[in-house]
Amino acid sequence: MPERIIEKQTSCNDSREPDILSVDAARKNIFEQITPLQNSEKLPVKDTLNRVLADDISSSINVPGHNNSAMDGYAISGDAIPQTGTKTFTVIGTAYAGKMFSEKCQHDQCIRIMTGSVMPEGTDSVIMQEHVHRAGNNITIDSSHTTGQNVRLAGEDIAIGTVVLSKGKLLTPADIGIISSLGIGELNVIRRPRVAFFSTGDELRSIGDGSNRPLSSGEIYDSNRYSLYAMLQQLNVDIIDMGVVRDDETSIRKALVEASSMADIIITSGGVSVGEADFIKPVLEDIGQINFWKIAMKPGRPLTFGQLDNSLFFGLPGNPVSVMVTFYQFVQPAIRYLASGKIQLPLNLKAICSTKLRKRSGRFEFQRGILSHTSDGLLTVDKTGQQGSGVLTSMSLANCFILLDEVNAGVEPGETVTVQPFDSII
Ligand code: AMP
Ligand code: MG
Repeated sequence: MPERIIEKQTSCNDSREPDILSVDAARKNIFEQITPLQNSEKLPVKDTLNRVLADDISSSINVPGHNNSAMDGYAISGDAIPQTGTKTFTVIGTAYAGKMFSEKCQHDQCIRIMTGSVMPEGTDSVIMQEHVHRAGNNITIDSSHTTGQNVRLAGEDIAIGTVVLSKGKLLTPADIGIISSLGIGELNVIRRPRVAFFSTGDELRSIGDGSNRPLSSGEIYDSNRYSLYAMLQQLNVDIIDMGVVRDDETSIRKALVEASSMADIIITSGGVSVGEADFIKPVLEDIGQINFWKIAMKPGRPLTFGQLDNSLFFGLPGNPVSVMVTFYQFVQPAIRYLASGKIQLPLNLKAICSTKLRKRSGRFEFQRGILSHTSDGLLTVDKTGQQGSGVLTSMSLANCFILLDEVNAGVEPGETVTVQPFDSII
């Protein structure tokens, strides 16, 4: 039962709110409910960027396949490099990438060689063309060279039989290059998580709903669905946008049931407070399970997490900043864990805070900041003006969160704080 689960969580020692969770305990609770996806699909390698590898990839070949030249120059035997003075060699032919030179090279001979060409028999070193003196069909070199120089060895990048990429790896452009270098054209990746989401609120107007009428008094445009859509787009998931659902118990019940039949994760925004039009919690309690509904954090306090059939449910608060903060702190790591089985928490860095930050102890705050660096690479952070949970411009101006934990009771200029970049730092 939901109540029992709440009792098991670490509380924030607030005697008035014994069921409120800390940020860490909430995250732990979420991860505990997730079984990472196992089903995979086979895709062409070029369609696998940001997908999660379903099987280990091991190499059936050496990369590179042969010892080859790293430079344009002349291939010789290292034994023939003079100890002192200079030595002259006769050029007996040319080796190109993709076109081997097949004769054996003797000690007083060399072979003109291009980058990527297989090292001809009898050679193991390459003299850069800039380091020889060429006269007709002869080259002269001095004693400054070493055996094996400018040669890439077979298997130097990947040795045959090695597991190159492990199951669960999020595929980057470099990984895609590696897989292609092994000659693998198709591979198994985990299927994408399916995420269904809707906004709740009688005051909400969808943009582009065709009505062309101006906002009536009390109406606002639904922005959460669009910021959510954008954050989901960055995560490589299948997105199911279910629009706006009115503040009405029957409609919310119907939408939740429909969402759970389609999605691994359901996200809603709004309607999770304790107002009279907030139906998300009672409905979920009735048809599913609530794991927690209150976190000692600001913004984002009324984040509600639970389950409905086989779907995970995140009821995000309605305020636009709260939506983004709770998404980045809880939903994004949950989606990544569901997709990959790996817990990847956001990167935390230390920076010197340039401004005074007001804060009460007892809850975790995610203030919005602008992270920059001095000419000698020191990170500094400023807050972005108004910090209200409805002030979305504070997010737009920001490039990081400033993390102020439960015990923190304010920051003076010059103090070091923890920051979490959520976008490009530049
Ligand atoms: P609620 O949690 O439903 O009480 O909403 C809290 C605040 O967020 C209210 O001021 C709502 O009007 C606002 N809000 C709720 N949903 C949205 C939305 N989809 N887009 C923009 N603002 C919203
Ligand atoms: Mg509402």
